[in-house]
Amino acid sequence: MTQQFLRDDDLMPFVEGLMNRYPVIAPVAKRTRFVFEKLIAADDLRLDYDTTVLPPKKVFFPSRQDLIHFDQQGFSACIEPQAQVLMGVHPHDIKGIAMSDRFYSDRHFDNNYMAYRQVTYIIGSSVQQHYKYAFFGSINADKPLSGHDLFMTKIDGGYVIEVVSDKGAELLACGSFSEASPAQIAEAEAVNAAAMENCPQKLNGGSAEIREKVRAAYESPLWDEMSEDCFSCGSCNIVCPTCYCFDVQDEWNVDGASGCRFRLWDACLTSEFSEVTGPGGTENFRDKRAERYRHRYMRKAAYLNDQLGGPACTGCGRCSGACTADIANPVNVINKVLEQ
Ligand code: SF4
Ligand code: SF4
Repeated sequence: MTQQFLRDDDLMPFVEGLMNRYPVIAPVAKRTRFVFEKLIAADDLRLDYDTTVLPPKKVFFPSRQDLIHFDQQGFSACIEPQAQVLMGVHPHDIKGIAMSDRFYSDRHFDNNYMAYRQVTYIIGSSVQQHYKYAFFGSINADKPLSGHDLFMTKIDGGYVIEVVSDKGAELLACGSFSEASPAQIAEAEAVNAAAMENCPQKLNGGSAEIREKVRAAYESPLWDEMSEDCFSCGSCNIVCPTCYCFDVQDEWNVDGASGCRFRLWDACLTSEFSEVTGPGGTENFRDKRAERYRHRYMRKAAYLNDQLGGPACTGCGRCSGACTADIANPVNVINKVLEQ
């Protein structure tokens, strides 16, 4: 597909053009951090963000999502997809969305996720500032981006816009572009290569080695040592773009006859997650925090690595920043395992 050039001065008119047609969800500043939120004004857009508190998966899989409304007559689905634009998604978050797409469509097609995903235009953007915990340059780095529609790379004087899909080409009608020159395309490639190269943190092994060594470390005392300060809050799960577990609950109205079934993000690091009730009482199959802590690494680095051909981790570093006890950094844990 084509490569276009958008001058710096034409960025705001393009964003306004998008906003005239669709709700546009994009990174905006919130106190000292950034979040993906619906743009109210075009100039709220912050393509110079380092990372967002929550990953963009929340656009298709919100932290609480109503599934059905029910009453004595029956039930109705709550899916109300509306075309929307998700803008400013970093390359590693595009990979996270591609992983979620697989999790929610492979073995069981999740209408509640896919309906919103299918009506969303995704515009990726280059990393202009690194988050201090990011290590996306050393994990799944060889995997090509997929599932997005346009990709914008900041270069001198504007943006090189790669048109990735027919859906993306439709969005060009919202702005004013010229064909990118070979020199501009080369500059964009160098910018994206440097962003990968300059990641502040780095894993010391490739996907296959990580998978084998993490799996082999199942009985290692490391999990007890590393999880000593874990207070099972689940924050490392909640901020993760590739965590996809949820809990389903019913909420009844005061009439006692109607209500809503909804789902909420769940977290395998919390002790309730692995609690099941049966005829003989309650059983917790990952009772110890070290078991839960180990499970997170087994899932990301070994079990899902088998399915995806690489760890179920984008290297975003959000979990490292979210952990009050400072023990959730995959770089520290996996590099320690690799040394064994
Ligand atoms: S495990 Fe951590 S670094 Fe990896 S994708 Fe999840 S939040 Fe990002
Ligand atoms: S964020 Fe840290 S303390 Fe909380 S569950 Fe995860 S590892 Fe444990």
